[in-house]
Amino acid sequence: MATATATDPALDVLRRVFGYDSFRGEQAAIIDTVVGGGDALVLMPTGGGKSLCYQIPALVRAGTGVVVSPLIALMQDQVDALAALGVRAAFLNSTLSLEDRRAVERALVAGELDLLYVAPEGLRSRATLDLLDRTQIALFAIDEAHCVSQWGHDFRPDYLELSVLHQRWPSVPRIALTATATAATRAEIAQRLDLEGARHFVSSFDRPNITYRIVPKDRPEKQLLDLLRTEHAGEAGIVYCLSRASVEKTAATLVENGIQALPYHAGLPASVRAANQSRFLREDGLVMVATIAFGMGIDKPDVRFVAHLDLPKSVEGYYQETGRAGRDGLPSTAWLAYGLADVVQQRKLIETSDGDAAHRRNLGQHLNAMLALCETVECRRAQLLAYFGQTHPGGCGSCDTCQAPPEAWDGTVAAQKVLSTVFRLDRERGQSFGVGQVVDILLGRDTEKVRRFRHQELSVFGVGKDLSENEWRAVVRQLLAQGLLTVEGVHGTLVLTAGSGEVLAQRREVRMRHEPARPMRAPKARKG
Ligand code: ADP
Ligand code: ZN
Repeated sequence: MATATATDPALDVLRRVFGYDSFRGEQAAIIDTVVGGGDALVLMPTGGGKSLCYQIPALVRAGTGVVVSPLIALMQDQVDALAALGVRAAFLNSTLSLEDRRAVERALVAGELDLLYVAPEGLRSRATLDLLDRTQIALFAIDEAHCVSQWGHDFRPDYLELSVLHQRWPSVPRIALTATATAATRAEIAQRLDLEGARHFVSSFDRPNITYRIVPKDRPEKQLLDLLRTEHAGEAGIVYCLSRASVEKTAATLVENGIQALPYHAGLPASVRAANQSRFLREDGLVMVATIAFGMGIDKPDVRFVAHLDLPKSVEGYYQETGRAGRDGLPSTAWLAYGLADVVQQRKLIETSDGDAAHRRNLGQHLNAMLALCETVECRRAQLLAYFGQTHPGGCGSCDTCQAPPEAWDGTVAAQKVLSTVFRLDRERGQSFGVGQVVDILLGRDTEKVRRFRHQELSVFGVGKDLSENEWRAVVRQLLAQGLLTVEGVHGTLVLTAGSGEVLAQRREVRMRHEPARPMRAPKARKG
């Protein structure tokens, strides 16, 4: 690995243009590779410093660095930030007037630009490709490269066309960058972008300043308010919700409770979204309540917490969203409230989603990995990093399972009670029953629905009085998470799996976690 020396032009640019003393992590080696004309595939967590990895080679090499980015809304900000440093940068995308576009094109061909940002769809046009033919190109940078992955949540079909860059300009070095990648996604990026010969740079994905906490969802809005008031009063943060409606409702609740919160989702007019985003970036201590439409490319260093009120669909999504906390390196919180209804809802969404069986299976695997992270009794950080193929010894001391280790208990008998109830209900043709009815039967409740279906006559009626309703819901949740039970159809009917049979036949034990009382951290003084 080459290291930068004082005479190194890259280090000189780092100091002179960007005003930093030294490279971080693998930046020096990455920059060295690209400056030397080699291809690179860079996996670095959010906040790791990916931009310099292509900006500096673009300045060191002759010609213009062409940056492909899906984040059209941020291009103006990026170009302005570079201009403030004296870097000659511009962008080409659909928001430009014809006149501005012509000006950028003239500057490009005249060799007056160090960096040009383009949207991936722009590279599908003949005119743009012809324009680049008349340009001296220093490098191609493909940002947010995971957008090429068809299995990922940010898939952009235009990214599939980017292999054209290599075919058309084989001698121009390429650097693909992403903050989201398991070994499988990395292989997919390399294959689809024709980067099999590229050097891979995989940084550690650990974010030591983020504390991970996943709590059982009880009264989510109250839990969120407690978190904000006791630990993050007056601080900036992001609250993620699954639906637009819950974004609106949660933002309103926070405002009613005296917390400065703004909503953000794709259903809002573009002008409102842009205004809320820029207020969040520029003002102190605002809480953005958003769907996952918000956040990609947002560089706000002092986001002190990211809270999820709904279960993310995958560990990649969870990691990327929580990674927006603490980019300045100061202590930050990643908090997720998760409950039985989340599992049922996500399984239903998958069950009723478009796409073929393979696609649904893939979604199911993503969800299972996320559930495993929620239900683990091990260090969350170690489990999270293991998902990305990175080892961590565990015992990090700054996740909830390290701070208050959950006890495991033998839930085999409880599991059998649930599964045999589901088994008996299963046989009532044409009827479907969800979690509520199963719990009512176990608790022996005399409800209208119990009487209508004569469920009081089932042998399992009332056999579950040893546990509370909440405890039964936790048992069902963990059975769903462990694949020992599943849900089907739009009504969320509980259905047995192959694993259920093993439990019922006494061939398999079921370990469950007790929910320990989780101490809140002591309230902090408000920042001045
Ligand atoms: P990423 O794109 O990986 O999320 P950025 O490129 O936006 O990260 O960098 C994150 C922050 O770290 C930025 O504020 C950037 O200026 C800063 N940064 C990057 N490299 C260095 C460095 N070598 N020294 C100091 N600060 C750096
Ligand atoms: Zn830990």
